Amino acid sequence: MNARNARRHVLKLGMSAVGAGLLGQSNILRASTPIPGNGRQMIWRNWSGIQSCQVESLLTPADEAAIAKLLHGTTNIVRCVGSGHSFTGLVPTQATILSLDKVSGLITHDKGGMTASVRAGTRLAQLSRQLDALGLALPNLPDIDAQSFAGAISTATHGTGAGLQALHAGVRSIRMVTAKGDVIDTRNAEHAGLLDPLRVSLGSLGVLTEMTTDVVPAFKLHRRVWLKPVEELLEVAPQLALEHRHFEFYYLPFTGFAAAITHDIDATGVTHHPDSADENMLRDLRRLRDWLGKSPDLRRWVARKLIDVDQTETAVDQSWKLLSTPRPMLFNESECHIPREAGIACVREVIQKLEQRNEVFFPLEFRFVKADTAWLSPFYQRDSCSIAVHAAAGEPYAYLVNEIAPIFRKYQGRPHWGKLHAHGPRDFKTLYPRWQDFLEVRQQLDPQGRLLNPYLRQLFGVPA
Ligand SMILES: Cc1cc2nc3c(=O)[nH]c(=O)nc-3n(C[C@H](O)[C@H](O)[C@H](O)COP(=O)(O)OP(=O)(O)OC[C@H]3O[C@@H](n4cnc5c(N)ncnc54)[C@H](O)[C@@H]3O)c2cc1C
Repeated sequence: MNARNARRHVLKLGMSAVGAGLLGQSNILRASTPIPGNGRQMIWRNWSGIQSCQVESLLTPADEAAIAKLLHGTTNIVRCVGSGHSFTGLVPTQATILSLDKVSGLITHDKGGMTASVRAGTRLAQLSRQLDALGLALPNLPDIDAQSFAGAISTATHGTGAGLQALHAGVRSIRMVTAKGDVIDTRNAEHAGLLDPLRVSLGSLGVLTEMTTDVVPAFKLHRRVWLKPVEELLEVAPQLALEHRHFEFYYLPFTGFAAAITHDIDATGVTHHPDSADENMLRDLRRLRDWLGKSPDLRRWVARKLIDVDQTETAVDQSWKLLSTPRPMLFNESECHIPREAGIACVREVIQKLEQRNEVFFPLEFRFVKADTAWLSPFYQRDSCSIAVHAAAGEPYAYLVNEIAPIFRKYQGRPHWGKLHAHGPRDFKTLYPRWQDFLEVRQQLDPQGRLLNPYLRQLFGVPA
Protein backbone atom coordinates (compact mmCIF):
# COMPACT_ATOMS: atom_id res chain seq x y z
CA MET A 1 0.00 0.00 0.00
CA ASN A 2 1.16 3.52 -0.53
CA ALA A 3 1.59 6.28 1.99
CA ARG A 4 -1.77 7.74 1.31
CA ASN A 5 -3.46 4.38 1.83
CA ALA A 6 -1.92 4.31 5.27
CA ARG A 7 -4.31 7.00 6.19
CA ARG A 8 -7.29 5.33 4.49
CA HIS A 9 -7.87 3.21 7.56
CA VAL A 10 -6.50 5.58 10.13
CA LEU A 11 -9.84 5.94 11.89
CA LYS A 12 -11.29 2.56 10.95
CA LEU A 13 -14.57 4.22 9.97
CA GLY A 14 -14.97 1.88 7.02
CA MET A 15 -15.30 4.45 4.29
CA SER A 16 -15.54 3.07 0.76
CA ALA A 17 -12.92 3.90 -1.86
CA VAL A 18 -13.53 6.94 -4.01
CA GLY A 19 -13.02 7.36 -7.73
CA ALA A 20 -9.75 8.68 -9.08
CA GLY A 21 -9.44 12.48 -9.01
CA LEU A 22 -8.83 14.54 -12.08
CA LEU A 23 -7.33 17.41 -10.21
CA GLY A 24 -4.06 17.22 -12.04
CA GLN A 25 -5.72 18.08 -15.30
CA SER A 26 -7.19 21.45 -14.44
CA ASN A 27 -6.12 24.07 -16.93
CA ILE A 28 -6.89 27.55 -18.09
CA LEU A 29 -9.54 26.55 -20.61
CA ARG A 30 -11.39 24.30 -18.19
CA ALA A 31 -11.21 27.05 -15.61
CA SER A 32 -12.74 29.63 -17.95
CA THR A 33 -16.33 29.93 -19.04
CA PRO A 34 -17.85 32.37 -21.53
CA ILE A 35 -20.39 34.79 -20.06
CA PRO A 36 -23.68 34.33 -21.95
CA GLY A 37 -24.68 37.45 -23.90
CA ASN A 38 -21.49 39.29 -22.98
CA GLY A 39 -19.51 39.24 -26.20
CA ARG A 40 -16.13 37.52 -25.84
CA GLN A 41 -15.79 38.10 -22.10
CA MET A 42 -14.81 35.05 -20.07
CA ILE A 43 -14.77 34.20 -16.41
CA TRP A 44 -11.46 32.84 -15.19
CA ARG A 45 -11.26 30.90 -11.91
CA ASN A 46 -8.39 29.38 -9.98
CA TRP A 47 -8.32 25.73 -8.92
CA SER A 48 -10.12 26.19 -5.59
CA GLY A 49 -12.54 28.82 -6.93
CA ILE A 50 -11.62 31.65 -4.52
CA GLN A 51 -9.93 33.76 -7.22
CA SER A 52 -11.88 34.78 -10.28
CA CYS A 53 -12.22 37.58 -12.81
CA GLN A 54 -14.13 38.65 -15.90
CA VAL A 55 -11.43 38.92 -18.49
CA GLU A 56 -11.50 40.68 -21.84
CA SER A 57 -9.06 38.37 -23.60
CA LEU A 58 -7.65 35.03 -22.69
CA LEU A 59 -4.87 34.26 -25.13
CA THR A 60 -2.85 31.10 -25.81
CA PRO A 61 0.01 32.14 -28.12
CA ALA A 62 1.79 29.36 -29.99
CA ASP A 63 5.39 30.39 -29.41
CA GLU A 64 7.81 33.00 -28.10
CA ALA A 65 7.62 35.07 -31.30
CA ALA A 66 3.85 35.33 -30.93
CA ILE A 67 4.25 36.40 -27.28
CA ALA A 68 6.80 39.07 -28.24
CA LYS A 69 4.49 40.39 -30.98
CA LEU A 70 1.57 40.45 -28.62
CA LEU A 71 3.40 42.36 -25.88
CA HIS A 72 4.91 44.74 -28.39
CA GLY A 73 1.50 45.56 -29.83
CA THR A 74 -0.64 46.07 -26.72
CA THR A 75 -0.94 48.59 -23.93
CA ASN A 76 -3.26 46.30 -21.96
CA ILE A 77 -2.39 44.87 -18.55
CA VAL A 78 -1.15 41.32 -19.15
CA ARG A 79 -1.06 38.60 -16.51
CA CYS A 80 0.31 35.12 -17.11
CA VAL A 81 -1.40 32.00 -15.89
CA GLY A 82 0.08 28.51 -15.53
CA SER A 83 -2.42 25.90 -14.39
CA GLY A 84 -4.24 28.25 -12.00
CA HIS A 85 -3.19 26.44 -8.83
CA SER A 86 -2.28 29.52 -6.78
CA PHE A 87 -4.66 30.61 -4.04
CA THR A 88 -3.58 34.26 -4.02
CA GLY A 89 -4.72 36.94 -6.48
CA LEU A 90 -1.66 36.72 -8.71
CA VAL A 91 -3.52 36.07 -11.96
CA PRO A 92 -6.84 37.98 -12.04
CA THR A 93 -7.12 40.96 -14.38
CA GLN A 94 -9.98 42.37 -16.42
CA ALA A 95 -7.64 42.93 -19.37
CA THR A 96 -5.50 40.09 -20.78
CA ILE A 97 -4.62 36.69 -19.34
CA LEU A 98 -1.86 34.86 -21.18
CA SER A 99 -1.70 31.09 -20.96
CA LEU A 100 1.40 29.27 -22.17
CA ASP A 101 -0.46 25.97 -22.55
CA LYS A 102 0.74 25.76 -26.16
CA VAL A 103 4.32 26.70 -25.29
CA SER A 104 4.95 23.37 -23.71
CA GLY A 105 7.24 20.32 -23.69
CA LEU A 106 10.86 19.35 -23.24
CA ILE A 107 13.16 21.13 -25.73
CA THR A 108 16.46 19.35 -25.20
CA HIS A 109 18.59 17.64 -22.55
CA ASP A 110 22.27 17.25 -21.78
CA LYS A 111 23.29 14.10 -19.92
CA GLY A 112 26.85 15.38 -19.56
CA GLY A 113 25.86 18.56 -17.78
CA MET A 114 22.71 16.95 -16.28
CA THR A 115 20.37 19.69 -17.48
CA ALA A 116 17.10 19.84 -19.39
CA SER A 117 15.62 22.79 -21.27
CA VAL A 118 11.88 23.09 -20.97
CA ARG A 119 9.16 25.35 -22.34
CA ALA A 120 7.38 27.47 -19.74
CA GLY A 121 3.89 25.95 -20.01
CA THR A 122 5.06 22.35 -19.50
CA ARG A 123 3.17 20.68 -16.67
CA LEU A 124 5.37 19.05 -14.05
CA ALA A 125 3.64 15.69 -14.67
CA GLN A 126 4.36 15.93 -18.39
CA LEU A 127 7.97 16.89 -17.73
CA SER A 128 8.47 14.00 -15.30
CA ARG A 129 7.16 11.53 -17.88
CA GLN A 130 9.35 12.94 -20.65
CA LEU A 131 12.44 12.94 -18.42
CA ASP A 132 11.73 9.41 -17.19
CA ALA A 133 11.70 8.16 -20.77
CA LEU A 134 15.26 9.54 -21.03
CA GLY A 135 16.38 7.99 -17.74
CA LEU A 136 16.25 11.39 -15.98
CA ALA A 137 14.20 13.05 -13.24
CA LEU A 138 13.77 16.30 -11.34
CA PRO A 139 15.57 16.04 -7.97
CA ASN A 140 12.37 16.78 -6.03
CA LEU A 141 8.70 17.52 -6.62
CA PRO A 142 5.82 19.23 -4.82
CA ASP A 143 2.75 17.52 -3.42
CA ILE A 144 0.95 17.66 -6.80
CA ASP A 145 2.40 17.84 -10.31
CA ALA A 146 -0.40 19.69 -12.10
CA GLN A 147 1.51 22.99 -12.09
CA SER A 148 3.22 24.49 -15.14
CA PHE A 149 6.99 24.75 -14.80
CA ALA A 150 6.96 28.56 -15.07
CA GLY A 151 4.04 28.89 -12.66
CA ALA A 152 5.71 26.60 -10.14
CA ILE A 153 9.03 28.41 -10.07
CA SER A 154 7.37 31.83 -10.11
CA THR A 155 5.97 31.29 -6.58
CA ALA A 156 8.89 29.20 -5.19
CA THR A 157 7.03 25.88 -5.26
CA HIS A 158 8.81 23.22 -3.20
CA GLY A 159 8.62 19.64 -1.99
CA THR A 160 10.21 18.30 1.19
CA GLY A 161 13.78 17.29 2.09
CA ALA A 162 16.21 18.92 4.53
CA GLY A 163 18.96 18.70 1.91
CA LEU A 164 16.78 19.54 -1.10
CA GLN A 165 15.97 22.96 -2.53
CA ALA A 166 12.77 24.33 -4.05
CA LEU A 167 12.24 23.84 -7.79
CA HIS A 168 13.47 27.28 -8.89
CA ALA A 169 16.88 26.74 -7.25
CA GLY A 170 17.78 24.21 -9.96
CA VAL A 171 17.04 26.68 -12.77
CA ARG A 172 20.31 27.70 -14.45
CA SER A 173 18.98 30.01 -17.15
CA ILE A 174 15.73 31.66 -18.22
CA ARG A 175 14.46 33.16 -21.48
CA MET A 176 11.66 35.67 -21.22
CA VAL A 177 9.78 38.36 -23.11
CA THR A 178 9.68 41.77 -21.43
CA ALA A 179 6.60 43.97 -21.13
CA LYS A 180 7.87 45.88 -24.19
CA GLY A 181 8.19 42.70 -26.26
CA ASP A 182 12.00 42.26 -26.11
CA VAL A 183 13.49 38.80 -25.61
CA ILE A 184 16.01 38.43 -22.77
CA ASP A 185 18.16 35.36 -22.10
CA THR A 186 20.16 35.09 -18.88
CA ARG A 187 22.77 32.97 -20.72
CA ASN A 188 23.95 36.26 -22.24
CA ALA A 189 26.48 37.95 -19.97
CA GLU A 190 24.56 41.21 -20.22
CA HIS A 191 21.52 39.62 -18.55
CA ALA A 192 23.15 36.99 -16.32
CA GLY A 193 22.49 39.14 -13.25
CA LEU A 194 18.73 38.80 -13.82
CA LEU A 195 18.67 35.09 -12.99
CA ASP A 196 18.21 35.47 -9.24
CA PRO A 197 15.46 38.09 -9.47
CA LEU A 198 13.72 36.13 -12.27
CA ARG A 199 13.71 32.71 -10.64
CA VAL A 200 10.89 33.71 -8.28
CA SER A 201 9.16 36.71 -9.82
CA LEU A 202 5.37 36.21 -9.58
CA GLY A 203 4.95 36.92 -13.29
CA SER A 204 5.91 40.53 -12.62
CA LEU A 205 9.18 40.86 -14.58
CA GLY A 206 8.12 39.41 -17.93
CA VAL A 207 6.67 36.35 -19.62
CA LEU A 208 8.98 33.38 -19.05
CA THR A 209 9.22 31.21 -22.16
CA GLU A 210 12.03 28.68 -21.58
CA MET A 211 14.15 27.48 -18.68
CA THR A 212 17.16 25.21 -18.36
CA THR A 213 17.11 23.27 -15.13
CA ASP A 214 19.17 20.70 -13.23
CA VAL A 215 18.14 17.06 -13.56
CA VAL A 216 19.41 13.85 -11.96
CA PRO A 217 19.45 10.23 -13.13
CA ALA A 218 15.97 8.69 -12.77
CA PHE A 219 15.61 7.08 -9.34
CA LYS A 220 13.29 4.86 -7.38
CA LEU A 221 12.04 5.73 -3.92
CA HIS A 222 10.93 3.63 -0.99
CA ARG A 223 8.12 5.23 0.97
CA ARG A 224 7.32 4.44 4.59
CA VAL A 225 4.37 5.83 6.56
CA TRP A 226 3.60 5.37 10.21
CA LEU A 227 1.49 6.97 12.91
CA LYS A 228 2.87 8.44 16.11
CA PRO A 229 1.55 10.64 18.92
CA VAL A 230 2.31 14.13 17.67
CA GLU A 231 4.33 15.18 20.74
CA GLU A 232 6.63 12.17 20.33
CA LEU A 233 7.03 12.88 16.61
CA LEU A 234 7.87 16.56 17.22
CA GLU A 235 10.77 15.43 19.43
CA VAL A 236 12.36 13.36 16.66
CA ALA A 237 11.24 15.23 13.53
CA PRO A 238 14.48 17.27 13.05
CA GLN A 239 16.55 14.09 13.35
CA LEU A 240 14.29 12.19 10.92
CA ALA A 241 14.69 15.05 8.46
CA LEU A 242 18.47 14.63 8.62
CA GLU A 243 18.31 10.84 8.26
CA HIS A 244 15.98 10.62 5.27
CA ARG A 245 16.13 12.12 1.75
CA HIS A 246 12.52 13.27 2.17
CA PHE A 247 10.68 13.57 5.47
CA GLU A 248 7.39 15.27 6.25
CA PHE A 249 4.45 14.80 8.56
CA TYR A 250 0.75 15.52 8.63
CA TYR A 251 -0.89 16.34 11.95
CA LEU A 252 -4.41 14.86 12.08
CA PRO A 253 -6.47 17.46 13.99
CA PHE A 254 -8.34 16.44 17.14
CA THR A 255 -6.66 13.02 17.23
CA GLY A 256 -3.33 13.76 18.94
CA PHE A 257 -1.62 11.73 16.18
CA ALA A 258 0.50 12.55 13.17
CA ALA A 259 1.35 10.54 10.04
CA ALA A 260 5.11 10.54 9.40
CA ILE A 261 6.26 9.95 5.82
CA THR A 262 9.77 9.19 4.60
CA HIS A 263 11.07 8.58 1.08
CA ASP A 264 14.54 7.17 0.48
CA ILE A 265 16.37 6.02 -2.61
CA ASP A 266 15.84 2.32 -3.29
CA ALA A 267 17.64 0.98 -6.34
CA THR A 268 16.59 -2.64 -5.94
CA GLY A 269 13.12 -2.68 -4.35
CA VAL A 270 10.25 -4.33 -6.22
CA THR A 271 7.73 -1.78 -7.44
CA HIS A 272 4.52 -1.81 -5.44
CA HIS A 273 2.28 1.21 -5.38
CA PRO A 274 -1.45 0.79 -4.75
CA ASP A 275 -3.97 3.49 -5.60
CA SER A 276 -4.03 6.62 -3.51
CA ALA A 277 -6.80 6.80 -0.95
CA ASP A 278 -6.13 10.10 0.77
CA GLU A 279 -9.70 11.08 0.17
CA ASN A 280 -10.92 8.38 2.52
CA MET A 281 -8.78 9.70 5.33
CA LEU A 282 -10.10 13.21 4.68
CA ARG A 283 -13.68 11.97 4.61
CA ASP A 284 -13.16 10.08 7.89
CA LEU A 285 -11.75 13.16 9.60
CA ARG A 286 -14.53 15.31 8.16
CA ARG A 287 -17.23 12.86 9.27
CA LEU A 288 -15.81 12.80 12.78
CA ARG A 289 -15.87 16.60 12.80
CA ASP A 290 -19.48 16.65 11.53
CA TRP A 291 -20.62 14.16 14.19
CA LEU A 292 -18.68 15.35 17.20
CA GLY A 293 -17.37 18.82 16.32
CA LYS A 294 -19.37 20.43 19.13
CA SER A 295 -17.83 18.10 21.74
CA PRO A 296 -14.08 18.35 21.19
CA ASP A 297 -13.15 16.15 24.16
CA LEU A 298 -15.48 13.40 23.00
CA ARG A 299 -14.18 13.85 19.45
CA ARG A 300 -10.59 13.34 20.64
CA TRP A 301 -11.58 10.35 22.77
CA VAL A 302 -13.43 8.66 19.89
CA ALA A 303 -10.57 9.40 17.47
CA ARG A 304 -8.04 7.80 19.82
CA LYS A 305 -10.26 4.72 20.23
CA LEU A 306 -10.67 4.36 16.48
CA ILE A 307 -7.17 5.19 15.37
CA ASP A 308 -5.10 2.26 14.11
CA VAL A 309 -1.71 3.08 15.63
CA ASP A 310 0.03 -0.07 14.44
CA GLN A 311 -0.12 0.69 10.76
CA THR A 312 3.13 0.94 8.83
CA GLU A 313 2.73 1.21 5.10
CA THR A 314 5.29 1.04 2.33
CA ALA A 315 5.52 1.61 -1.40
CA VAL A 316 8.31 1.51 -3.99
CA ASP A 317 8.14 3.30 -7.34
CA GLN A 318 9.82 5.88 -9.59
CA SER A 319 10.38 9.14 -7.66
CA TRP A 320 7.83 11.21 -9.59
CA LYS A 321 5.11 8.62 -9.11
CA LEU A 322 5.47 8.75 -5.32
CA LEU A 323 6.29 12.38 -4.57
CA SER A 324 3.19 13.92 -6.16
CA THR A 325 -0.40 12.76 -5.62
CA PRO A 326 -3.78 13.85 -7.05
CA ARG A 327 -5.86 15.97 -4.67
CA PRO A 328 -9.52 15.55 -5.63
CA MET A 329 -10.96 17.35 -2.58
CA LEU A 330 -10.73 21.08 -3.26
CA PHE A 331 -9.38 23.24 -0.45
CA ASN A 332 -7.90 26.62 0.40
CA GLU A 333 -4.49 26.91 2.01
CA SER A 334 -2.05 29.13 3.82
CA GLU A 335 1.63 28.18 4.16
CA CYS A 336 4.57 29.88 5.78
CA HIS A 337 8.30 29.14 5.77
CA ILE A 338 9.94 29.40 9.19
CA PRO A 339 13.68 29.46 9.99
CA ARG A 340 14.67 25.79 10.40
CA GLU A 341 15.64 26.06 14.07
CA ALA A 342 12.25 27.57 15.04
CA GLY A 343 10.03 25.21 13.02
CA ILE A 344 9.03 22.85 15.82
CA ALA A 345 8.27 25.61 18.33
CA CYS A 346 6.15 27.35 15.71
CA VAL A 347 4.17 24.28 14.67
CA ARG A 348 3.36 23.51 18.33
CA GLU A 349 1.68 26.92 18.60
CA VAL A 350 -0.11 26.50 15.28
CA ILE A 351 -1.52 23.12 16.35
CA GLN A 352 -2.72 24.60 19.66
CA LYS A 353 -4.44 27.43 17.81
CA LEU A 354 -6.10 25.11 15.26
CA GLU A 355 -7.47 22.91 18.02
CA GLN A 356 -9.36 25.88 19.44
CA ARG A 357 -11.55 25.79 16.32
CA ASN A 358 -13.98 22.91 16.29
CA GLU A 359 -14.58 23.10 12.53
CA VAL A 360 -10.99 22.14 11.68
CA PHE A 361 -10.51 18.67 10.19
CA PHE A 362 -7.94 19.10 7.40
CA PRO A 363 -4.45 17.80 8.33
CA LEU A 364 -1.61 20.29 8.84
CA GLU A 365 1.48 19.61 6.69
CA PHE A 366 5.05 20.12 7.94
CA ARG A 367 8.03 19.99 5.51
CA PHE A 368 11.71 20.85 5.24
CA VAL A 369 13.36 22.94 2.47
CA LYS A 370 17.01 23.90 1.92
CA ALA A 371 18.19 27.49 1.41
CA ASP A 372 18.82 29.12 -1.99
CA THR A 373 19.74 32.48 -3.50
CA ALA A 374 16.72 33.72 -5.50
CA TRP A 375 15.92 37.22 -4.27
CA LEU A 376 12.21 36.61 -3.56
CA SER A 377 12.62 33.01 -2.52
CA PRO A 378 11.10 32.43 0.93
CA PHE A 379 14.16 30.19 1.41
CA TYR A 380 16.59 33.00 0.54
CA GLN A 381 19.77 32.20 2.51
CA ARG A 382 17.66 30.33 5.04
CA ASP A 383 17.13 26.60 5.62
CA SER A 384 13.43 26.39 6.47
CA CYS A 385 10.49 24.40 7.75
CA SER A 386 7.19 24.89 5.94
CA ILE A 387 3.90 24.78 7.82
CA ALA A 388 0.70 24.53 5.78
CA VAL A 389 -2.89 24.76 7.04
CA HIS A 390 -5.98 24.04 4.95
CA ALA A 391 -9.77 24.37 4.90
CA ALA A 392 -12.09 22.48 2.56
CA ALA A 393 -13.36 24.61 -0.34
CA GLY A 394 -16.77 26.04 0.51
CA GLU A 395 -15.95 26.24 4.24
CA PRO A 396 -14.72 29.36 6.08
CA TYR A 397 -11.00 29.93 5.55
CA ALA A 398 -10.31 33.47 6.81
CA TYR A 399 -9.06 32.10 10.15
CA LEU A 400 -6.22 30.33 8.33
CA VAL A 401 -4.79 33.76 7.74
CA ASN A 402 -6.18 35.91 10.55
CA GLU A 403 -5.49 33.55 13.44
CA ILE A 404 -2.39 31.74 12.27
CA ALA A 405 -0.58 34.71 10.67
CA PRO A 406 0.39 36.29 14.03
CA ILE A 407 2.16 33.04 14.97
CA PHE A 408 3.96 32.92 11.63
CA ARG A 409 4.95 36.59 12.08
CA LYS A 410 6.32 35.94 15.55
CA TYR A 411 8.73 33.39 14.03
CA GLN A 412 9.78 35.59 11.07
CA GLY A 413 7.86 33.37 8.67
CA ARG A 414 7.99 34.17 4.97
CA PRO A 415 4.65 33.27 3.33
CA HIS A 416 4.32 31.08 0.24
CA TRP A 417 3.64 33.49 -2.64
CA GLY A 418 0.93 31.26 -4.08
CA LYS A 419 -0.92 30.60 -0.81
CA LEU A 420 -3.13 32.81 1.36
CA HIS A 421 -1.35 35.24 3.66
CA ALA A 422 -1.76 38.62 5.32
CA HIS A 423 1.70 40.07 4.71
CA GLY A 424 2.28 43.39 2.94
CA PRO A 425 5.17 45.47 1.55
CA ARG A 426 6.34 46.58 5.01
CA ASP A 427 6.73 42.95 6.10
CA PHE A 428 8.52 41.99 2.91
CA LYS A 429 11.00 44.83 3.26
CA THR A 430 12.07 43.38 6.59
CA LEU A 431 11.88 39.72 5.60
CA TYR A 432 13.68 39.92 2.24
CA PRO A 433 17.19 41.44 2.17
CA ARG A 434 16.92 41.98 -1.64
CA TRP A 435 13.33 43.32 -1.65
CA GLN A 436 14.26 46.85 -2.68
CA ASP A 437 16.67 45.54 -5.35
CA PHE A 438 13.84 43.43 -6.78
CA LEU A 439 11.50 46.42 -6.93
CA GLU A 440 14.16 48.44 -8.78
CA VAL A 441 14.69 45.68 -11.37
CA ARG A 442 10.92 45.46 -11.76
CA GLN A 443 10.63 49.18 -12.33
CA GLN A 444 13.39 49.10 -14.97
CA LEU A 445 11.86 46.15 -16.86
CA ASP A 446 8.25 47.31 -16.66
CA PRO A 447 8.16 51.07 -15.99
CA GLN A 448 4.50 51.36 -17.08
CA GLY A 449 3.37 48.63 -14.66
CA ARG A 450 1.78 46.63 -17.51
CA LEU A 451 2.45 43.34 -15.75
CA LEU A 452 0.79 44.41 -12.51
CA ASN A 453 -2.77 43.71 -11.38
CA PRO A 454 -4.28 45.38 -8.29
CA TYR A 455 -3.14 42.50 -6.07
CA LEU A 456 0.51 42.85 -7.14
CA ARG A 457 0.39 46.66 -6.84
CA GLN A 458 -0.67 46.22 -3.22
CA LEU A 459 1.95 43.52 -2.61
CA PHE A 460 4.77 45.65 -4.05
CA GLY A 461 3.45 48.93 -2.59
CA VAL A 462 3.06 50.45 -6.08
CA PRO A 463 0.33 53.15 -6.23
CA ALA A 464 -2.62 52.44 -8.58
C1 LIG B 1 -3.67 21.12 -4.60
C2 LIG B 1 -2.45 22.01 -4.54
C3 LIG B 1 -1.26 21.49 -4.06
C4 LIG B 1 -0.12 22.29 -3.99
N1 LIG B 1 1.03 21.76 -3.50
C5 LIG B 1 2.13 22.53 -3.38
C6 LIG B 1 3.35 22.01 -2.86
O1 LIG B 1 3.46 20.83 -2.53
N2 LIG B 1 4.40 22.86 -2.71
C7 LIG B 1 4.31 24.18 -3.04
O2 LIG B 1 5.29 24.90 -2.87
N3 LIG B 1 3.18 24.70 -3.57
C8 LIG B 1 2.11 23.90 -3.76
N4 LIG B 1 0.97 24.43 -4.30
C9 LIG B 1 0.99 25.82 -4.80
C10 LIG B 1 1.38 25.86 -6.28
O3 LIG B 1 2.49 25.01 -6.53
C11 LIG B 1 1.80 27.28 -6.69
O4 LIG B 1 0.78 28.19 -6.39
C12 LIG B 1 2.17 27.36 -8.16
O5 LIG B 1 2.61 28.66 -8.44
C13 LIG B 1 1.03 27.01 -9.09
O6 LIG B 1 1.53 26.83 -10.41
P1 LIG B 1 0.60 27.15 -11.66
O7 LIG B 1 1.23 26.60 -12.87
O8 LIG B 1 -0.78 26.75 -11.36
O9 LIG B 1 0.73 28.73 -11.71
P2 LIG B 1 -0.41 29.83 -11.54
O10 LIG B 1 -1.02 29.68 -10.21
O11 LIG B 1 -1.29 29.82 -12.71
O12 LIG B 1 0.51 31.13 -11.55
C14 LIG B 1 1.44 31.36 -10.51
C15 LIG B 1 2.31 32.55 -10.84
O13 LIG B 1 3.14 32.23 -11.94
C16 LIG B 1 3.05 33.23 -12.93
N5 LIG B 1 3.30 32.62 -14.23
C17 LIG B 1 2.76 31.49 -14.76
N6 LIG B 1 3.28 31.26 -15.97
C18 LIG B 1 4.17 32.25 -16.21
C19 LIG B 1 5.03 32.56 -17.30
N7 LIG B 1 5.09 31.81 -18.40
N8 LIG B 1 5.81 33.68 -17.21
C20 LIG B 1 5.76 34.46 -16.11
N9 LIG B 1 4.97 34.19 -15.06
C21 LIG B 1 4.20 33.11 -15.11
C22 LIG B 1 1.64 33.78 -12.78
O14 LIG B 1 1.53 35.07 -13.32
C23 LIG B 1 1.52 33.79 -11.26
O15 LIG B 1 2.14 34.93 -10.74
C24 LIG B 1 -0.19 23.66 -4.41
C25 LIG B 1 -1.38 24.18 -4.90
C26 LIG B 1 -2.52 23.36 -4.97
C27 LIG B 1 -3.81 23.93 -5.50
